[in-house]
Amino acid sequence: MLGGIEAGGTKFVCVVGASPDRIAREARFPTRDPAMTIADAVAFFRDAATAGHGIDALGVASFGPVELRRDHPRYGAITTTPKPGWSGTDLLGPLRDALAVPVGFDTDVNGAALGEGRWGAARGVRNFVYVTVGTGIGGGAVVDGAPVHGLPHPEMGHVSVARLPGDDFAGICPFHGDCLEGMACGPAIAARWGRPAEDLAGADLARAVAIEAHYLAAGLRNVVYALAPERIVLGGGVAGLPGLLPALRDGLSAALAGYPGLAEHGAPGFVVPPGLGGAAGAAGALALAELALAGA
Ligand code: ZN
Repeated sequence: MLGGIEAGGTKFVCVVGASPDRIAREARFPTRDPAMTIADAVAFFRDAATAGHGIDALGVASFGPVELRRDHPRYGAITTTPKPGWSGTDLLGPLRDALAVPVGFDTDVNGAALGEGRWGAARGVRNFVYVTVGTGIGGGAVVDGAPVHGLPHPEMGHVSVARLPGDDFAGICPFHGDCLEGMACGPAIAARWGRPAEDLAGADLARAVAIEAHYLAAGLRNVVYALAPERIVLGGGVAGLPGLLPALRDGLSAALAGYPGLAEHGAPGFVVPPGLGGAAGAAGALALAELALAGA
């Protein structure tokens, strides 16, 4: 039996199960201060064990940024976050100490990527990228079956993107202004239009989708050229805007401009929606638990 925690900035989702479609117990609670929130999670898994659902390993897919270097003194900590009280929080240590099982730890987006690779839209694909477009834009790269870690993990939302000719929107990234996230995340759409994307309709929605497709295509061009993915799984609330996916596929083909000229880059199976839907976060945490159990 595996345990998973999808540790989000607004809520924690805890699950016990063998796989995403065999969940024995689940709880979700608001993200409060670190001590109270970690205590809530520990209590959930202890209650589950008392009820006969003890876990053999735990996976934690966390909001970030997080320290992922296993030999670093702060491994498993949330490093710098605007969320009050959470900067510098050791998330991994207290869970491992309290539950005494192997714990796998990664970013939420790397977790979602692993979940899609294990059970979802990237099954059987060795090299792929999961990109989420929502309140921010993040990407997890899986290369030869393992998520890319380094200093500390990819930040695909902050790549540079070519501007749409005539577009004078400044962008909203507090660090870069008009990076991909600054131009195309959900709050960027809301800032551009004065209302959120889900409130747009008719010609405004069509225009917003065309602009969004342009910037995501420009961003994915960087990803395609830098990482050579065999598939891109596109998740997040904004990715579900009506008409966006086909417009993005066309935009990506245009952005690649015939180089290197692979038919696969233009095929419908190259940029795909997630296979796990709303279960992706919990699935990612379970995938991390499975890897921890295997000693990976
Ligand atoms: Zn940025």
